[in-house]
Amino acid sequence: MSAAELFSLRGRRALVTGSGQGIGLTLARGLAVAGAEVVLNDVDPARLAQAVARLNDEGFTATGRAFDVTDAAAIAAGLADFTAASGPGIDILINNAGIHRRAPLESMPLESWQAVIDVNLTSAFLVSRAVVPGMLQRGCGKIINICSLNAEISRPTIANYAASKGGLKMLTRAMAVEWGGRNIQANGISPGYMRTDMTGTLTVDPEFDRYIRARTPAGRWGEPRELIGAAVFLSARASDFMNGQILFVDGGLLSAL
Ligand code: NAP
Repeated sequence: MSAAELFSLRGRRALVTGSGQGIGLTLARGLAVAGAEVVLNDVDPARLAQAVARLNDEGFTATGRAFDVTDAAAIAAGLADFTAASGPGIDILINNAGIHRRAPLESMPLESWQAVIDVNLTSAFLVSRAVVPGMLQRGCGKIINICSLNAEISRPTIANYAASKGGLKMLTRAMAVEWGGRNIQANGISPGYMRTDMTGTLTVDPEFDRYIRARTPAGRWGEPRELIGAAVFLSARASDFMNGQILFVDGGLLSAL
């Protein structure tokens, strides 16, 4: 098999959750460049329509499905044509949708705890549960869970986020164990600090910006496009014997004291 074939996604259909903007949209475009047909998802229909139009304008095959990834009924309705036994299926699933609700742990509202666990962790279970029966039927599939450095290390005010991403890391391993014998590979990507809307308030905070540059061996924030290589690799035949692993794309941060 040639190097191009190892990394080609031609003939594959990929669903990326939370891909109306940010990392999700960048990864959807990256998979499309590698040949995949992409299905975008977001909770905001207007943002989703704009993202789909952008990719179509760029010459890629993209469609959108607006639904809340925490709502099992909405997921089932949104993906009905991709989960029907005889219809087209999803070959690659990237569980990317995520939120932050920062607060000191001792005064964190239960709603903030629950919302973050629901969107960052439970959603990956729900969307995978909808998509994986088709993968099992077709005898192959790739799942990529977007974890975080905070699956391994934490800092004040993000206990809900760290717990959700640590849970997502273990859900990734559980998926690998449960479905690996049936040719489904589930792996994770843990980005370091990347410039997106989610980190917008942090990138413009001079003190936090200084802290991240000093703390990251690369000496800078990451850009979402720097995650594309890992996502294409984990979506392609090149990673067929890799299962249950988390790739850290973090400028070296996790290795530094
Ligand atoms: P982002 O710019 O906020 O994009 C996330 C997208 O997901 C938004 O469009 C968001 O919509 C959508 N979303 C939120 N809740 C949803 C729901 N219930 N159903 C469907 N879509 C929903 O964030 P990002 O920085 O690209 O982050 C993407 C993923 O990477 C997240 O899982 C995040 O935890 C992870 N990550 C990011 C960084 C970083 O430095 N940026 C680092 C490590 C990990 P709304 O804007 O309406 O909420």
